[in-house]
Amino acid sequence: MPLPTPFLDRMKSDLGSEYPDFLAALEQPAPVSIRLNPSKKVNAFGNAEPIPWHPDGRYLSERPVFTLDPVFHAGGYYVQEASSMLIREAVRQTVGLGQNLGVLDLCAAPGGKSTLLLSALGEGSFLVSNEVIQSRISPLKMNLEKWGHSNAAVSNHDPEDFAKLAGYFDVVLVDAPCSGEGLFRKDEDAAGHWSEAAVELCAARQRRILSAAADLVQAGGVLLYSTCTFNAFENENNVQWLSEQGFDFEKLDLPTEWGVAEKKWGYQCYPHRVRGEGFFFAALRKTAEANRPFIKNYVPKEWQRIPFRQQDVFADWISEVADYEFFTKPEGTVVAMPKALEESFFTIGTLLKKRSIGMEIGELKNRSFIPSHTLALANLLNPALPKVNMTKDQALHFLKKENLWEADWQRGWTLATFENLPLGWMKIMENRSNNYLPTNWRIRMDLQP
Ligand code: SAM
Repeated sequence: MPLPTPFLDRMKSDLGSEYPDFLAALEQPAPVSIRLNPSKKVNAFGNAEPIPWHPDGRYLSERPVFTLDPVFHAGGYYVQEASSMLIREAVRQTVGLGQNLGVLDLCAAPGGKSTLLLSALGEGSFLVSNEVIQSRISPLKMNLEKWGHSNAAVSNHDPEDFAKLAGYFDVVLVDAPCSGEGLFRKDEDAAGHWSEAAVELCAARQRRILSAAADLVQAGGVLLYSTCTFNAFENENNVQWLSEQGFDFEKLDLPTEWGVAEKKWGYQCYPHRVRGEGFFFAALRKTAEANRPFIKNYVPKEWQRIPFRQQDVFADWISEVADYEFFTKPEGTVVAMPKALEESFFTIGTLLKKRSIGMEIGELKNRSFIPSHTLALANLLNPALPKVNMTKDQALHFLKKENLWEADWQRGWTLATFENLPLGWMKIMENRSNNYLPTNWRIRMDLQP
């Protein structure tokens, strides 16, 4: 599809002598990249080229069929374009890596930046991954479940619904819906939806989102703003506006060889300078007064806390069982929650209606425990549980939800693993097995080429 003339005219005037290089880059195929999950021990992509600004980022020489890679299903990596991984650098330079912070990812689906944040933050951090569009919640949850962390809550709200959490978060990320100019090469439809009016609409919507987001940051905290577009209406103008609302623009120090263009109000990746897609990002520090509110929080009234003496049943399944609190819901679902984050989870649970808090690790039925798929993928899983390490072919058949069975497999609950990464549960019986992979997780495509 030919690119819209007003877009090309603006890029020409913005880029000057670099414009022909920009056009030439748009003719090139988009680079393929992934980001490894550091909390899973992944052996894949050992020879792939590293992405300079992210230790877990790798460029792939071609696009594999990710659906046919069991490591992908195990949450061993996330397929993410390289420029967006610069968010880690903004985190590193503004709040530091490995810190225990309260973080809100306000426009989170499908979860690329949320998974990046979980890996960049300390394990004692608390992340709220919010997405306003309901149909995007399920893929967001699946991606977070694959990533395996138990310190994230998911919510399905408009940014304005967070008003009672004013001043609550150390970091708020607004990876805003935008006109998508930076994706024209990757996504042909993006150019078809573009118009000058759409840019204006996006800029106004971003302003509304940012205005709600700005209130949620505590004094001294950081607001991260990003888009995948090039124009100043959606990018620099919004950042400049924030700088007039009690925020200081944070200057980042990015090595020139990364190719990121430094603007007065942010950092821009162009495809002819950076090996990635078009991406804009900026970090701002809140200078305005904003005290962290005291919020009275409650355990949801239908939940029952499982008394300590009845928690033994989980010791076989979870490695640091003493670090978690356990609850049951009326239908028997068991929720695990890091003890240290109880208050944060219940604050979100108390103030937001559409949210999931805690990790659903299974069900208690007639005093026996049935583990969930979420637990199979979770980092809190006891690594000593019985497992069957599968060949790639077996793993793919398992992921098609076939019931595999071999005479020498240990009877009972067993993890199907590939390269030691859990894929899901099987219950092995005397002469057959049941595959507990949830139906909506199974591979639908044919395994044969
Ligand atoms: N951060 C995500 C990631 O890294 O995978 C991508 C986010 S995408 C650029 C922007 C998201 O904002 C979309 O999921 C979209 O549904 C959501 N969105 C759309 N309108 C919104 C609004 N008015 N307020 C907040 N979010 C909105």
